[in-house]
Amino acid sequence: MDRNEASKLKALSDIASIDIALEFENILQDILKITCETMNAHSGTMMLVDEKTGELGMAASYRLGDDYIERVYEAAKKAGVPLTSSPSGTVLKTGRYYSVPNVFEEPKDKPWYGLSNELGFSSQIFTPMKRGQKVIGLLNVYMAEAHQFTDEEIDFVNIAASQASSVVHNAEKIMENHKKLYDSEKRYRELFENANDGIYTHDVEGYILTINDAALEILGCTDRDEVIGSNISRWLTQEGLGTAKEIIRKYVMGEPVEQPIILEIVRKSNEHRWVEFRIRIIKEGDRIVAIHGIGRDITEKMKLEQQLKEYHEKLKISYEELKEADRMKTEFVSNITHELLTPMTSIKGFTELLYNSTTGGINDEQKKSLKIILRNSQRLIKLINGLLDAAYLEKNMFELKFASVSMNDILTKAAQDVQPQAREKQITIIQEIPHLTEIHGEEERLTRVITNVLSNAIKFTPDNGKVTIAAEENSDTVKISIADTGIGIPADKLSRIFERFYQVDGSTTRKYGGVGLGLSICKGIIEKHNGLIWAESGGNGNGSTFHIVLPKKNQNI
Ligand code: ADP
Repeated sequence: MDRNEASKLKALSDIASIDIALEFENILQDILKITCETMNAHSGTMMLVDEKTGELGMAASYRLGDDYIERVYEAAKKAGVPLTSSPSGTVLKTGRYYSVPNVFEEPKDKPWYGLSNELGFSSQIFTPMKRGQKVIGLLNVYMAEAHQFTDEEIDFVNIAASQASSVVHNAEKIMENHKKLYDSEKRYRELFENANDGIYTHDVEGYILTINDAALEILGCTDRDEVIGSNISRWLTQEGLGTAKEIIRKYVMGEPVEQPIILEIVRKSNEHRWVEFRIRIIKEGDRIVAIHGIGRDITEKMKLEQQLKEYHEKLKISYEELKEADRMKTEFVSNITHELLTPMTSIKGFTELLYNSTTGGINDEQKKSLKIILRNSQRLIKLINGLLDAAYLEKNMFELKFASVSMNDILTKAAQDVQPQAREKQITIIQEIPHLTEIHGEEERLTRVITNVLSNAIKFTPDNGKVTIAAEENSDTVKISIADTGIGIPADKLSRIFERFYQVDGSTTRKYGGVGLGLSICKGIIEKHNGLIWAESGGNGNGSTFHIVLPKKNQNI
């Protein structure tokens, strides 16, 4: 509620205490009385035209009964004459005064002779009350004796009539404004009462002046009288009150106040709640007369926020713990793999020596066993290297030695590397590789990527299948595609296979071996080359295609 609304409310309470209609009638009555008394008249009437029906109604009467007009109508009806032909009807029509020196000689008055006789007047003057050209009523003066009205008297009645019309006009304006004011106050009241937010006003000392239902509810009260007139100190915690006082002080000093203000309130039941306030001051001139506030109970919201904050904190801690655990795990994996690599390299080395019979003759049976040991130690070393790469990639310690490399050489070498594996399953490797310009990259790592993808293609393709290596070159990139006729990859797993330790189906692990690290390392290596790797598949049994795109030039160099 701003100042305007506050003064509107005040005006309304003032207006409510006087009955405008009654006041208006009294003024008209007074005008008529003064006019009649001044003229020493027998009686007088003031009639107003009803805008809707066009009929005359009594607005004031002097020494004549209020039923006079009805009696006039009645007499007219009895005589079968329309009122329009009467002296008053003539004034309404012409808009000019009409005087009758002797009623009993006036043919127009004939239907009313009886009435005049009974009431005791013999002459009369009818004057129009006008708004512009429109006649809105009549001021009529009746004299006991037959009487010729003088010019002076006529002027006097005319002036009185015009004053009466301006009273009517003003009264109508006031009534209209009153109605507008009433309507807007009603609208404001409705808003105030039905608002979801608590609305209230209190004076500078903190005494509550107005409060709506929602605010009562926030305070846990049902009776408005419990709150109106009470001090805000009753409804605030010590701390809340301190803040509220400080805000009022700021307002009084004209200092800026930050909104919204969140205060802890004390309900009737002594329960504490949190309320968010937005307040404004109501001024009269320079003086602050009241503080108007809107409050919303945000206790539940605050509780939720608090919970959320706690969850967030917990989550943050868990995340930190997880990160630390992950770091430790990576550390552990890289340490342990290093430790494994050294003995494995020497196991492999000595086995090779034995196998190659450098240390003395061995029989065929022994050679067969040594071959198995060699193959398995090679597998182990490969696995350890994979783990090491994964750990380095994760720690971002993966260093690449970029140089100009031939993808043709890399593809040929990788195809050769997997040839024994393919042969075992009678899988044909088809190469559709044009001559490719050299690119910037690390030969060893890129060879590992291609070998890994090729080896997977063979691993996941049944015997007698086909693996096709294709390549194409664009202006800035080289694209390698490796397609197989194998078991395929479900659409929803296509991106997940590049995650560490992810395998489409755990059971295939037993059948196919591997630990789910290869593709995640491939992705890491390709990304280090600023390239892309992705898979496509027709789904179950429809084969898969792995695409690798590498930029020819690399910013890393
Ligand atoms: P690994 O082969 O050691 O399990 P990878 O990271 O190389 O690990 O591959 C992850 C998973 O992706 C494999 O276990 C397999 O489920 C799936 N996958 C990879 N390549 C193919 C392929 N050519 N056809 C079908 N599935 C594949």
